[in-house]
Formats: sequence, C-alpha cells, structure tokens
Amino acid sequence: FEQLSTADPEIAEVVLGELDRLRGGLQLIASENLTSPAVLAALGSTLTNKYAEGYPGRRYYGGCAQVDRAEELGIARAKDLFGAEHANLQPHSGASANLAAYAALVQPGDTVLAMELPHGGHLTHGSRVNFSGRWFKPVGYTVRQDTELIDYDEVRDLARTHQPKMIICGATAYPRLIDFARFREIADEVGAYLMVDAAHFIGLVAGQAIPSPVPYADVVCATTHKVLRGPRGGMILCREAVAERIDKAVFPFTQGGPLMHAVAAKAVALHEAAQPAYRSYAAQVVANARALAAGLAAEGMRPVSGGTDTHLALIDLREIGVTGAEAEARCDAATITLNKNAIPYDPQKPFVASGIRVGTPSVTTQGMGEAQMRQVAVLIARAVRTDPSAPGGVDELARIAADAAELAAEFPAYPR
Ligand code: PLP
Repeated sequence: FEQLSTADPEIAEVVLGELDRLRGGLQLIASENLTSPAVLAALGSTLTNKYAEGYPGRRYYGGCAQVDRAEELGIARAKDLFGAEHANLQPHSGASANLAAYAALVQPGDTVLAMELPHGGHLTHGSRVNFSGRWFKPVGYTVRQDTELIDYDEVRDLARTHQPKMIICGATAYPRLIDFARFREIADEVGAYLMVDAAHFIGLVAGQAIPSPVPYADVVCATTHKVLRGPRGGMILCREAVAERIDKAVFPFTQGGPLMHAVAAKAVALHEAAQPAYRSYAAQVVANARALAAGLAAEGMRPVSGGTDTHLALIDLREIGVTGAEAEARCDAATITLNKNAIPYDPQKPFVASGIRVGTPSVTTQGMGEAQMRQVAVLIARAVRTDPSAPGGVDELARIAADAAELAAEFPAYPR
C-alpha cells in the first residue's frame, strides 16, 4: 500500500476511503461480502500479468506452468467441494458465466423459460435490455401473489405451452429455497436443459446450509464474490456430457485470456470454503438473515413470503408509507448500506420500488450474530422512518449513523 500511496496518492486515497467506509458502517447488500486477506493477496499478485488463453496443459502461450497449477488446483477444489463432474473457473463474472451457458446449450431464437425480473430474476434471465432478451425468446414465470413463492404449476404449464430449450432457476431477490428436483422433472418432461443460476446462493451450498442444485442441473452458473467470499468473478459447474461445450463457450466463444490472478483467488476462496469454519459461517449467515427478517417484521416491515431460508430478505415497505428509494437514501445517510428492490407485483417503477433487500454475508463475516441482527433491525427501522426534510431529521440520521458505527466497531471489518 505504501507503494501505491507514493505512486498514485489519489487512488490510494480512494482505497483507504473505501476501507474506512467498510469499517465505519453496516454492509447489508445481499450480493456483497468481505474477502479474506489471502484472497486479496492472490488478486493483487503478479499472476495478473500472464496471458493464458486456453485451459491447463492446452494454452496458446508459453510460460503457463505456474498458472496451470493454480487453475488445476481451483478446478479440483470446485469439483470436490460441490461434487461436480466438471468445473470452469474462467468466467469473468456471473453474467459472463450465464452468457457461456446460453452459448453452450441454446441457439439464438430459442425459447428460454426463466423467472421474471420484477419477481426476482436477473437481467440475464430474459430482460429486453440484455443479450438474453434480445437474442433469445424469453418466457417468464412469476411468484404467486398470495404466497410470494414460485408457482411450480405455472412453470410446468408454461413449459408445456412454450416448449423451451432451456429452463433457468435461481434468482437475485428470492429469499426461499428452490425445489431443484421439481424443476428437473419439468425440464425432463419437455426435453429442456436445466440451468441453475446459483450466483447468489452457491456459497450457502458450499457451506452445506442449503440443498445443492448440482445433482439436478445440467449446468450450474455462479458468482464467486457473494456468500462464497471469493474474488469478483464467475464459475460454471456442469455434467461431463456438456463439459466440452461449456469450456468452448467460455473460451474462445465469449472470452479471451482468463484473469489468472482472479482464477488463483477463486482457488483460495474454494479452499477456505472447504474448511469447517466456513460451514459454521454459512449456517450463521442464514440464522442471521432469519433474525434480521424477524426483527424488521417486529418493527412493522413485512418480509416478502413471510421470512427467509437464505442469506437475504426482501422487505415490503408499503405499510409504513416509505418507498424503497427513500429507504435506501435514508439508510445511506445513516451509513447503513442496502438497496431498494422491487417486490413481487410492485406498483412502483423499479427505480423507486416498494421494498428493500437486506443480506447478511458481510456482517456475518465480521462476526455478528442474531443478537446484533436485532439491533441492526432497530437501526434500519429508525433510519427508514426518519424523513431528512422533517425538523430534526438530519440530526436523527446522524445519531443513527453514530450508533451504527459503534456496533460496527465492535465487529470490525478488516481489523487493524
Ligand atoms: N445471476 C444472478 C442471479 C445474479 O444475482 C447476478 C448478480 O447479482 C448475476 C447473475 C451476475 O453477476 P455479475 O454481476 O458478476 O455479472
């Protein structure tokens, strides 16, 4: 870091500023986490210099002995940890992994059945502003209005009617478990591939806190930077039958040279995730999310579907008359970082939204437990209810920020 401050004080200031931000408040974005110093060391290593197009033992460049070893270790660890027949660690991101899965399994113009974005699906699940909606024919399933759970009968009916070539399950804002066996059954009935987008919850699978999609899916796509606590990036696990197609879809079809520093950092994260301590961590992430959802419910904020089985909760703010955008801004002012989120059947536009999404991967990494989640729920409720334009509002948000900082200081991110 000293070298960075000497060479580029402006960027050094940004890096330190971000560290202060992480240490000074509460990080509740469900898709974020705090990587270990070991992961950061691999990311900041000289492996970033190496061109390694191809795969271990089959590269288009010389000098790949060391990076081959990193990638081989990473692949072996991923296969071991998830019981997968094949693993590819080269996707630059979750969206790149998904693009490769489409490229491997379907042709432009084919029908793909996935969850609607406003119900929790991702942009890559058929949104018109994304390649998935532009190049493929998306059909969307929803959650039921009464239970706010996936309606498997609707999924089956849509599959029968539209005969998709690929079905996707896995979401960005769905707090409950997904019945992978049921999706497999539906995919088999119509002869479709089943792609599970486990971007959000692959870390919970690694820690055996929730059931694994690997035995059911043809392809599992994931990110490595969420609950899994690795570097920002993607990963694909798949059956041997489609392994060659997946590898070719990642390189050379959708990517060039892999980011070998990131591949090595993924290997480090997979090693960490195989340790018993990570299993306790994953269980605590879920226990904390349940406690946070229950705490918010006690404060009059309804968790969509009544609660959570995972690392995140989606909170409906309509009863307290605050929009998601207002809540996000108020929490931000109180150094509580979370995001506005559409709730199912949301009457608001996505940029306003009626809900917020909260997640526990980061605060759990910091060592917080259920008792702290109850405190966090009270802080969120205070912030969400504080209108900064009302008399005393700004002062109250500053007091909440001080309380949040005090709690964060007891469980420091990246302790000095
Ligand atoms: N798939 C799902 C379900 C996601 O939630 C996300 C990101 O949040 C992605 C894919 C994309 O990951 P990335 O942002 O790494 O491209």
